[in-house]
Amino acid sequence: MKELIIGSHVSFKNDTQLLGSVKEALSYNANTFMFYTGAPQNTNRGQINDALTLEAYKLMRENNIDLANIIVHAPYIVNLANSNNFDFSVSFLINETERCSLLGIKYLVLHPGSAVNVTRDIAISNIIRGLKLILDTNYDVMILLETMAGKGNEIGRDFEELATIINGVSSSKLGVCLDTCHISDAGYDISNFDEVLLEFDKKIGLDKLKCLHINDSKNERGSHKDRHENIGFGYLGFNNLLKIIYHEKLQNIPKILETPYITYDDNSKERIYPPYKEEIAMIRNKEFDKDMILNIRKANQT
Ligand code: FE
Ligand code: FE
Ligand code: ZN
Repeated sequence: MKELIIGSHVSFKNDTQLLGSVKEALSYNANTFMFYTGAPQNTNRGQINDALTLEAYKLMRENNIDLANIIVHAPYIVNLANSNNFDFSVSFLINETERCSLLGIKYLVLHPGSAVNVTRDIAISNIIRGLKLILDTNYDVMILLETMAGKGNEIGRDFEELATIINGVSSSKLGVCLDTCHISDAGYDISNFDEVLLEFDKKIGLDKLKCLHINDSKNERGSHKDRHENIGFGYLGFNNLLKIIYHEKLQNIPKILETPYITYDDNSKERIYPPYKEEIAMIRNKEFDKDMILNIRKANQT
């Protein structure tokens, strides 16, 4: 049995960069991680500091973190489907692949786009055209299209749609990131995951799958809402998620938690604590702790 490759979303701050991200990941006992190179909701990006990158590599080597498993997520406001900001989106994403390659990172996760003011067909053809331009560079960075929940006009709500894009672009540098919350929200039955994986293999090809986002969902299957829940606390459930995490066909694929920070109470929006250390521990122990949220709240009371 190979070692589980598990981590979470971490921050990437301009003053500590990759070194800060590695330290945060280590504090969760993770052996991989994912980050945005700046704020997820904007496209302001700083310069990559090579000295910090080299320090980060050293710390990764000392802790057996393989650079090949690290993921960057593109900001979610970039929309290749939109005809209006198309040129900006393309040039931003070319710069983002350059940043990934400066950091030595192989995988860039991207939301395919959203059909705003255009038909789904035009949206898809814009995405294909954009991806061709972005991948037509010498950077050795793979773009991973994320499976989406189908919220609003999101493209990528089923495997067929992703296959249409992948076939249209026809590049070895294009793959897929599967998000468990999103595919359940999109209507796939996660409790029958072998069936889901079989369909993925038929429509897209399992060799294209390079990253998994492991999230529970606040909503029922088919809800198209895209609201993540902590592992075991939502509609997918701990055992269904464990089956995916430990699936024999997915052993070499990095698994990234994007579950919500713990808040003071169910109605509070103030994020007080990232639960990744606790969730990773539950996953490694294969044992659900139904009091996890409660205990974190107790420990963080002021
Ligand atoms: Fe995402
Ligand atoms: Fe995701
Ligand atoms: Zn999501």
